[in-house]
Amino acid sequence: MDARTVEALMHKADLALYRAKAAGRGTFSFYDETLDKQLEERRDLISEMRVAIGGEQFRLHYQPQYSSDGKTLNGYEALLRWTHPTLGPLTPDKFIPLAEDTGLIDPLGRWVLRAACTQAALWPSDLSVAVNLSAAQFRHGDLVEIVARTLDATGLPAHRLELEITESLLMSNTEQVTQALSRLVAMGVRIAMDDFGTGYSSMAYLWRFPFDKLKIDRAFTENLDTDPKVGLIVRSIIALSHSLDIRVSAEGVEKAEQLKVLRKHRCDEVQGYLLGRPVPDDQLVHLGAAEAPDGIVQAQSTAGVEPDSM
Ligand code: C2E
Ligand code: CA
Ligand code: CA
Repeated sequence: MDARTVEALMHKADLALYRAKAAGRGTFSFYDETLDKQLEERRDLISEMRVAIGGEQFRLHYQPQYSSDGKTLNGYEALLRWTHPTLGPLTPDKFIPLAEDTGLIDPLGRWVLRAACTQAALWPSDLSVAVNLSAAQFRHGDLVEIVARTLDATGLPAHRLELEITESLLMSNTEQVTQALSRLVAMGVRIAMDDFGTGYSSMAYLWRFPFDKLKIDRAFTENLDTDPKVGLIVRSIIALSHSLDIRVSAEGVEKAEQLKVLRKHRCDEVQGYLLGRPVPDDQLVHLGAAEAPDGIVQAQSTAGVEPDSM
């Protein structure tokens, strides 16, 4: 028997409905005890996140972005880390969706922007910082002001900030989003399209929005050295972007062979464990791979392919 009272039965039916919805349309789900537990864990994590924002548990790691010659360091992408007091290090996919669902992404996103710009203002002036934005952060209409205030407060010139957005934002295609992006561009902030090629393809958005950079998703890079068809797709994406005056970056470069193919196809920028893992700010050295004794080989030997330890 699942329940002895109407309330308990309704509660359990709700949970089953919640799970069925989360699994997508046209599914059904039965109650079982793990559901209660999952919901409880979710609630705990949300309330813990609410308290932790702005404190020591959240930190940014920075992953280098190089020109595809592997020699010029252009800047870093800021990647959020949460060291939970009992669960230990959590990757963003464990908590960003919760933050988005609950609106906590607003204070969290403001903190990320502030922390990243504060750091970047301390770097050599030719280095920029890329900050990830969730579609949810565009909902309230004050994002542009938040960015402007943050640049003002931290003293970071607008052209050294790049905001990474994904297609899901553009699919909503509201006037509000278009206006916000145009105002950010007018301020001098750069806009990059993240995870390109994974969504509902995206060609239509390329000419409608003011992108400076397109980041080819790791799923392509991964297969670049094994499947020639992937190379053809990547080559076409790069050619198309270049004809629209958009720079191209490839994510998730782990092998020298992948880097070679990307160079051949005239990819502008590369990012991945081969060139450098995400690390805390106190471990950044700001070296172009060329400044290291063996150039890219040096970068390779220190980078490895393990995920960052957080
Ligand atoms: P993303 O923006 O696509 O970030 C790249 C992810 O790939 C990062 O995972 C990075 O650590 C990982 N990565 C980098 N190079 C390699 C590689 O060579 N091989 C492999 N296998 N992985 C690589 P991470 O840090 O776990 O972040 C996951 C996602 O969480 C990010 O994907 C981004 O969408 C989101 N995220 C991270 N920080 C923030 C943030 O501050 N705000 C928002 N809204 N989202 C964030
Ligand atoms: Ca990103
Ligand atoms: Ca990405």
